[in-house]
Amino acid sequence: MAVYICSQCGSTVESRCKPGKCKSCGAVKDKLIKQEQPKK
Ligand SMILES: [Zn+2]
Repeated sequence: MAVYICSQCGSTVESRCKPGKCKSCGAVKDKLIKQEQPKK
């Protein structure tokens, strides 16, 4: 599971693959930046 951060509204989106757009503000996927998560 990867986490993407919306550079437009700052909310995070959890998804296995790259989300099409931000669920909060509807920003396009280009605005979503992948955030590496440490394994637990
Ligand atoms: Zn957003």
